[in-house]
Amino acid sequence: MAYIEPAPIKDKENPLESMMERFHIAAEKLGLSEEVYNVLKNPAKQVIVSLPITMDNGKIKVFEGIRVIHSNILGPAKGGIRFAPDVHLDEVRALAAWMTWKCAVVDIPYGGGKGGVRCNPREMSAGEIERLVRAYTLAMIDVFGPDKDIPAPDMGTGPREMAWLMDEYSKAHGMTVNAVVTGKPLVLGGSLGRTEATGRGVMVTALAAMQKLKINPFQATCAVQGFGNVGSWAALLLEERGLRILAISDISGAYFNPNGINIQEAIAYRDSNKGTLENFTGAEKLADAMDLLELEVDVLVPAAVEDVITIANADKIKAKLIVEGANGPTSAKADAILNDKGIMAVPDILANAGGVTVSYFEWVQNRLGYKWTAERVNRRSDRIMKDAFDHVYEASVKYKVPMRIAAYIVAIDKVAKTYTFRGGF
Ligand code: NAD
Repeated sequence: MAYIEPAPIKDKENPLESMMERFHIAAEKLGLSEEVYNVLKNPAKQVIVSLPITMDNGKIKVFEGIRVIHSNILGPAKGGIRFAPDVHLDEVRALAAWMTWKCAVVDIPYGGGKGGVRCNPREMSAGEIERLVRAYTLAMIDVFGPDKDIPAPDMGTGPREMAWLMDEYSKAHGMTVNAVVTGKPLVLGGSLGRTEATGRGVMVTALAAMQKLKINPFQATCAVQGFGNVGSWAALLLEERGLRILAISDISGAYFNPNGINIQEAIAYRDSNKGTLENFTGAEKLADAMDLLELEVDVLVPAAVEDVITIANADKIKAKLIVEGANGPTSAKADAILNDKGIMAVPDILANAGGVTVSYFEWVQNRLGYKWTAERVNRRSDRIMKDAFDHVYEASVKYKVPMRIAAYIVAIDKVAKTYTFRGGF
């Protein structure tokens, strides 16, 4: 799906600070020593490169590329590459740390990393994007590696970019190294089930949470913000399991139908309409797209960008359950308001970990030289996601904390214990 520039967000809070605030609370609950706290707080590696690219008009333009490895304690770093006009180091650092906790929550043997290139792919030709991906890969040739740091797609990038990355990395090593990157096209060693994996994990954790909250999926309603990879798959799979999706949205606006939106139709419409829901007729357009978040629904799935649930709107949210498809959609300050209202939030590091789980399966298959069926991929990832939900839920009961802090507790505990076993200098 092509990248679509995010709308400006009012009162945007700092995503790194939001992440650190939760980390701090969980570390305190866990009684983490100050030494280990400091180890886990600081990124292991941060690389910033300048990428001079010859544009189609013959002029050279310099782009900034970032890669942050937050931790490689559990294994090689894992994390996507974001192509966006406003990507910055703080955001990449936050997303890299999120990846550490996310991999630890679902118990896969990876650390956390993240990359970004400040560019607007919407305004670039395929050739320009290809040259940018190849230049970024070469600049990061000593950073990336199947046993060191394994990138993947994120906002603004997809299988096409991952194929170029794999090709460039392979050329530099004189052999095909398909395990250096995940989210590749199927023919290049991509995994079946990867495209829908994140949305599928959102569905699995949403159903697990609904069971705890005693919400019957067949009587439940849902609103989904963002209709890209994560949002549209989550909407489709939740609809398949009985929920009525009353509202969906993308950069063009939010669309509401009290009788439920036919998600398959909405996806077909988007795909035939340059990737957007603009002028979608299966629902009424809301005057303000942000109103989607405040609708009277059982389940709310923010699956677009960070910091959309803030102190400005948290008290107006009516959903009983929030399942975070996007990374960091809820600001730290909004957490307290949601908790007071008794709203359960399945946090990003758990809810959207289905993607990294199947990325891990892709890497495993590449290393095995063997391909699993979609059925095997889905079955194994569903089990991992359900187990992870149960662990986090148990921790939330044990430590008497909301699910978000419980997820951090599970993750930090795992990384801290591993660090202690491995030892420092
Ligand atoms: P995408 O580019 O495929 O889709 C993003 C969607 O959000 C688009 O429909 C876009 O129009 C919409 N959007 C952008 N700004 C919006 C706004 N202000 N209001 C409403 N809609 C808006 O991206 P994606 O891969 O679906 O990723 C979405 C989020 O999920 C990101 O936070 C990403 O980091 C996170 N995530 C993605 C994956 C994955 O596997 N793709 C995995 C984990 C987390």
